Amino acid sequence: MSLNLWLLHWLFSVRALFVVGADEALDAAQEDILGAKFWVLRDPAQPSVTAEQVRERNAIGYRVLLEVGLEQELPSFPRTVTDVLADARGWQGIGRELVRVESNARFDVLLARPDTIDQLCAPLRTRGEYSCGRERRAALNLARWREGTPTWGDDVRGYRNYMINHEVGHLLGMPHQRCPEAGGPAAVMQQQTMELDGCVAHGWPLPVEVDKLRRMRASWRK
Ligand SMILES: [Zn+2]
Repeated sequence: MSLNLWLLHWLFSVRALFVVGADEALDAAQEDILGAKFWVLRDPAQPSVTAEQVRERNAIGYRVLLEVGLEQELPSFPRTVTDVLADARGWQGIGRELVRVESNARFDVLLARPDTIDQLCAPLRTRGEYSCGRERRAALNLARWREGTPTWGDDVRGYRNYMINHEVGHLLGMPHQRCPEAGGPAAVMQQQTMELDGCVAHGWPLPVEVDKLRRMRASWRK
């Protein structure tokens, strides 16, 4: 091996230790949804949970999808979704684990271009600006994911947590909520993208919201 080739090889090896390339994260199936193409993502650093494990753990399985062409959002998009849905501050407070799977999912969390979101969310009018959680899909708008929203100011990361928790909240059965107390933290099921209604921006379900969802789901089982 020439010195140059050896150096090149070494550089690639070192790089591989620090980053997961988009190619690896995209070692995944493609799926068509209403004419738009999506990657069904897997993450070599955090393997998906198998159907058997989902049953054993009485967990709720979800898939993570990314519209083809948005590979620059890798690997941060699927990692953020996985981290938020596994967080103790989140919906797993209802007593059910939320785990990423590649098949037999209860719902999908997907990131797509604004036009695609409008198609997926219709007849809801997302107008290229909003996201939605319906038809077993948390459909996250790329523009909001990248830029956040004025009600959240510069806190784009915090707003991303909100987007995931709000739309997944709908899929688990939660309706919209009002600001519980002016000056206090907003309910995650408030429409915080549009206005805060006197509350302070907040990206996690309030304990009262987690309780409400737990009680609602318990009553459905009867
Ligand atoms: Zn909503």
